[in-house]
Amino acid sequence: MVRSIFSVMLLWVFVQMAHAAQNTIDSVRVSPSSDTTRVVFDMKYAPEFTYFTLKNPQRLVIDLPNTNNNFSLSNVDNGGDLIKRLRYSTPKNKSAARVVIELNRQATPSLFAITPAGAFGHRLVIDLADSEPGRSAVLTASAPSVVIDDKTSPRDSDIIVAIDAGHGGRDPGSIGPAGTFEKHITLSVAKKLQAMINAEPGMKAIMTRSNDSYISPNRRPEIAREKKADLLISIHADAFSQPEPRGGSVWVLSMRRADTELGRWLEKSERHAELLGGAAEVINDKSSERYLTETILGLSMDHSMASSHDLGNKVVDELKKVTSLHKRKPQAASFAVLTAPDIPSILVELGFISNPQEEKNLNWSKYRERLAKAVFTATKQYFKQTPPDGTLWAQEKANNRTHKVRSGESLSLLAQRYNVKVSSIKAANDLNSDVVRVGQVLTIPRT
Ligand SMILES: [Zn+2]
Repeated sequence: MVRSIFSVMLLWVFVQMAHAAQNTIDSVRVSPSSDTTRVVFDMKYAPEFTYFTLKNPQRLVIDLPNTNNNFSLSNVDNGGDLIKRLRYSTPKNKSAARVVIELNRQATPSLFAITPAGAFGHRLVIDLADSEPGRSAVLTASAPSVVIDDKTSPRDSDIIVAIDAGHGGRDPGSIGPAGTFEKHITLSVAKKLQAMINAEPGMKAIMTRSNDSYISPNRRPEIAREKKADLLISIHADAFSQPEPRGGSVWVLSMRRADTELGRWLEKSERHAELLGGAAEVINDKSSERYLTETILGLSMDHSMASSHDLGNKVVDELKKVTSLHKRKPQAASFAVLTAPDIPSILVELGFISNPQEEKNLNWSKYRERLAKAVFTATKQYFKQTPPDGTLWAQEKANNRTHKVRSGESLSLLAQRYNVKVSSIKAANDLNSDVVRVGQVLTIPRT
């Protein structure tokens, strides 16, 4: 009952909006993959839509009320071989647009609208689940769709960490023997981590989800990219059919998957601009474009993967102070959430929710706090050592000197010698006491 009244009101709101101004398709992007092909319509306003499918031949018909058909669909690159072509058809009325996506075989569509975020405006997303997965592309991965971002937004001086709480909404993730949902644990730890990062000057957290909502695994790295994240941390809890396995682990992108992703990105040469930033212009001037692109993109990926490993090791070191480890080294895997070739990404399994003791621990707020703190400490350490260019921390690092403590030297002596406060040296080095040991390398702030 409540629902039907709500629907009527929602319809009324849409009708009002529809009268306000005519909607426009600004661009159409297709991202094929072996199992699901994604089509994104960039729209001027929030899209209204209805759709239906037709057989012989297979078609998806989308009706967009109060939308013009000025955008040319014939130039849309349809990518893989699921989509035959996109075209307009006669709409129900003159003010509407009817889009037909002709398919080479059956596919199950799911459509949803996305509200503006970052550099992106309103979007209508059409996911086409292929009836013959694996046929569309030789590539096995479904990469995030890549978008040319020609608005060069000024670089935020904060380091941006995208936190991805695993699962959510209709996807509970794993369920513990006492009935704990993984999606609740991951969100709680993600929020604690978010608070710690946001309390740290020079760092900022963004969330792929901040409530109990469903987001597809492919969409998650896309959000990180849209928000210009320097790092993506995905948070999960493991499960096994037996209760014994326990302990945390850290995962990074596997080399095999990386090669696939790289090949996939290279396929769309016109899309390199966004990924490569300033390097894209250089490439455009060269004759051997593909080779250069491959090299630079490869370097970018090598860099992301090396960074992921580096951070992964640090997270493992911190996690083992809090929990037992299931794997003592970062593991390589092919999770969809780790597929952004340009953003270092790690996936942290907090422990086994299928282990009764660990399920109990994970339900304890203080324990989740410790896990979040471990991830935070490792992340902070990682960025202190290798701050991304253009950030506050990179500036600080460039300004700082280091001093190796020699026998007989104390903090107050060093403070005097470098003409800085003892408290500034302590803050710059995260020291809790005045005790320093011989051989310790200290950062000496300039002011
Ligand atoms: Zn999970």
